[in-house]
Amino acid sequence: MVLLKPWDIWIMDTTPLTCLNYIDGNWVGSPTIKESRNPTDWREVVATFPSSSIDDVNTAVESARRAYKTWRLVPAPVRAELVYRVGELLLQRKEELAYLMSREMGKPLTESLGDVQEGVDCAFYYAGEGRRLFGQTTPSELNNKFAMTVRVPVGVCALITPWNFPIAIPCWKALPALVCGNTIILKPAQDTSACATMLTEIFHEAGLPPGVVNLVHGAGEIVGRALLEHPDIDLVSFTGSSATGSEIGATCGRTHKRVCLELGGKNAQIVMEDADLELALEGALWGAFGTTGQRCTATSRLLLHRDIKAEFTAQLLEQTSKLRVGAGTDDQTQVGPLVNSSQLERVEHYLEVALTEGAKVLIGGEVVTEEKFKHGYFFSPTILDGVTPTMRIAREEIFGPVLALMEINSFEEAIAMLNDTPYGLSSSIYTRDVNRAFQAMRDIEAGITYINGPTIGAEVHLPFGGVKQTGNGHREAGSAALDVFTDWKTIYVDFSGRLQRAQIDNR
Ligand code: NAD
Repeated sequence: MVLLKPWDIWIMDTTPLTCLNYIDGNWVGSPTIKESRNPTDWREVVATFPSSSIDDVNTAVESARRAYKTWRLVPAPVRAELVYRVGELLLQRKEELAYLMSREMGKPLTESLGDVQEGVDCAFYYAGEGRRLFGQTTPSELNNKFAMTVRVPVGVCALITPWNFPIAIPCWKALPALVCGNTIILKPAQDTSACATMLTEIFHEAGLPPGVVNLVHGAGEIVGRALLEHPDIDLVSFTGSSATGSEIGATCGRTHKRVCLELGGKNAQIVMEDADLELALEGALWGAFGTTGQRCTATSRLLLHRDIKAEFTAQLLEQTSKLRVGAGTDDQTQVGPLVNSSQLERVEHYLEVALTEGAKVLIGGEVVTEEKFKHGYFFSPTILDGVTPTMRIAREEIFGPVLALMEINSFEEAIAMLNDTPYGLSSSIYTRDVNRAFQAMRDIEAGITYINGPTIGAEVHLPFGGVKQTGNGHREAGSAALDVFTDWKTIYVDFSGRLQRAQIDNR
């Protein structure tokens, strides 16, 4: 007897899913419907979802505001138990979710499984935080007076997310927000509406009370903007492009909202002459072409020491030519399609820019023309040489399978070149010299630095985020996320029975 793997069952069922908004514990529609399509074959509709209106946003905000009154009073360890349950359900449905993700946004299955696993890790990590959420106790300068700090929730949070990590990123935001006692409205990217709906189904099944979690599908220009402008939203947590992020930052400044921005990157991997070249090669391939280069932490610049550049480049080209391009749902695929036609156009545009600027295409550089890919958004893994720091392709985020090679003559030049970008998210150096490794840890201007590892591979219990135009100083993940989703309240308890004046009476 041949046993069917879960994939086989889902492969057979390609009926489009009907996704709805989730407001106040109910699944509700909206008259205008949009489609999310498979980037491997755009003829296949993966799901339909509502193109929501400002009225839908208003209803969701009212529901979240109502629920906040009681949710903030639920003890944090009890809130955390529900988040733990979310983790268990994500684990149970891991393969199903991963398969849907690969269909909906094209990521290879192994990576989609990793994306869901990140949600699981996040749930289990923040479930533990429910029994910590530590504050401080500290001496008072006055007798018979007690001083402490406690974390209190911020209120109603709008979570606006991109399509490249359709489960992990919403989890990074939603799970700490919920454990801290906030209520949320999730506005996912339209390309991954089905994944967001399945995640919300899991929140529902985990038993989160009505109104605590709300989902509103639709366009950033309408739904996203309405959330930013709404007076009853206290906090906006956004992950996406720097262009959208700066607009969001400006609006939230004007409307006095707390705002956490996680934006673009132009990450570099340095390979010094003393590096383990085999290891550095594996890292470069994974960093540049994992998720088809559509990660904010993707390696888009490879800074190679002149002594090893020729040898390293030859090996890199050989390995790149062997990468298997294909459907995300095919478990042999290493590089999937780009997510949509505008991403494909964007990558094609940057290739034109590269050629105009004088860069040389060593491999790839074109849309994949094979018959079986003609209805998909496939671009071949591309390596450009002769890239110099002032070129646009060395400075701007491409967000596709394009790697720029740049030559360095010294460690100092490598660090300066790595830092010479408006962004500062992830970074990497391969070297066997411990002194250089420590200098790099100190001197690289980035939120994340890997020593002898690629630029991708964040873990949920450590802070995630960047410097310069990558963000606005906040961090996601780890205990740092608690600083986004809580306010500090400082409490003084005077048990002296008389007025005690600080800075005056004890002098
Ligand atoms: P995007 O900025 O186009 O969209 C992100 C989200 O914002 C979507 O939900 C979109 O609908 C919404 N949106 C768009 N316009 C809006 C507006 N005017 N007001 C409110 N909301 C609006 O980004 P994308 O194309 O979905 O994602 C790719 C980008 O995300 C890349 O630049 C990548 O570097 C970045 N990213 C950053 C991180 C990080 O943690 N730093 C992680 C993943 C992706």
